[in-house]
Amino acid sequence: MARIVVVGSGFGGVEAVRRLGQLGVCERHECLLVSPGRRFVYTPFIPMIVSGRYGLSDVVFSVEGFARRHGFSVIDDVVVGIDPSHVALRGGERLDYDYAVVAAGASPAYYNVSGAERHSVVPYSPEEALKLRETVLGGVESIVIVGAGFVGVELAGELSWLRESQGLGFSVVLIDMMEWPLELLGNKLASIKARKVLERIGVRLLLGRRVKSVDERGVVLDNRERVGADVVVWVAGLHGPRMSVPKASRDAKGFLRVDKALRVEGLGGRVYAVGDAARLEARPGCMALKMAREAIRSARVAAANILLSLYGLGPEEEYEPRITNCTPQVGLSIGPETGIVALGRTVAMESNMMNYYHERMRRIYRRLLEGGD
Ligand SMILES: Cc1cc2nc3c(=O)[nH]c(=O)nc-3n(C[C@H](O)[C@H](O)[C@H](O)COP(=O)(O)OP(=O)(O)OC[C@H]3O[C@@H](n4cnc5c(N)ncnc54)[C@H](O)[C@@H]3O)c2cc1C
Repeated sequence: MARIVVVGSGFGGVEAVRRLGQLGVCERHECLLVSPGRRFVYTPFIPMIVSGRYGLSDVVFSVEGFARRHGFSVIDDVVVGIDPSHVALRGGERLDYDYAVVAAGASPAYYNVSGAERHSVVPYSPEEALKLRETVLGGVESIVIVGAGFVGVELAGELSWLRESQGLGFSVVLIDMMEWPLELLGNKLASIKARKVLERIGVRLLLGRRVKSVDERGVVLDNRERVGADVVVWVAGLHGPRMSVPKASRDAKGFLRVDKALRVEGLGGRVYAVGDAARLEARPGCMALKMAREAIRSARVAAANILLSLYGLGPEEEYEPRITNCTPQVGLSIGPETGIVALGRTVAMESNMMNYYHERMRRIYRRLLEGGD
């Protein structure tokens, strides 16, 4: 009997559990899910916790019953390291494994900016988002968001809506070293439209500026200009998952290097990485965007490859990222009433579609995991 360990229960981990269960792998083999807090978080609605449009219980679902139904035992712990034969847990246990799927997501990148980690809020978890909401409602005059990517633009939209709906008077400044919001999407029209919406809802944009340091009074830019803020929100980029792995397994940004079959380099060929944790490249210069759909698709491939390898059925499936900066197919909301949809490199529109799409997906996940609404 083989032991298969899935690390993480976000979009990628949940899909790996579902597929391995459906493929019957866990009827004959031991399947373990390492899930901090035994929970799944519907991340696309984390920014809406800041505005109060959604609460914690709307976005956090238990994975316990779901995992059990698919033949998995759940371990509530955090993985601190992986080597070619063991997964080390923070609690001290070392699990040996035959196959592992690392679906541990990403962590914030601070790029060695002085004070960034210490003096900023990173609302990547529902709890941090709720804390940010409480701080804002407690009375602030100015908020700086560093990073005009997806999450930064969505947060600016939610904060702006909160300000209007509550009659509050704080300012929102969005800073990025790129010249345009959403520039990494690779769709100029989407960037132009996002900029227009942000300006219309009263977000001040400071683009083409690098943040050099963060302190309790705000941020200092590369031209030494100080931008004062009661709260600095840091959503400037991602780094690979926090766990120790062999040096050869990571790229320069800490993401796990994988081959076409999603096997992590330097870990012996039986560890797969999926979703945000992995460096997923379609071709040189065309990286998979760190999005839920790519995590789900890559997890399906990893689960299939474990089955093929277990029964010697090879060759393994190859994973081809679909949503990349060269082929963006993405949408985001900017507050409850609008948003941006980008299709390919040239088509973009202002649309409220994503608010509806994500509400539908949220309900699907709730049903899948908890059997609720
Ligand atoms: C605020 C926010 C808004 C977003 N909005 C969108 C959106 O609108 N659309 C979209 O497609 N994508 C969005 N994303 C990106 C999307 O959340 C990710 O691309 C997706 O969650 C990746 O799935 P994943 O399984 O790789 O990682 P995650 O979903 O992040 O899951 C990681 C899992 O691993 C666990 N974990 C972490 N470290 C460890 C460890 N050391 N040991 C064990 N477990 C660990 C975590 O607890 C979690 O369960 C958003 C992200 C954020 C933060």
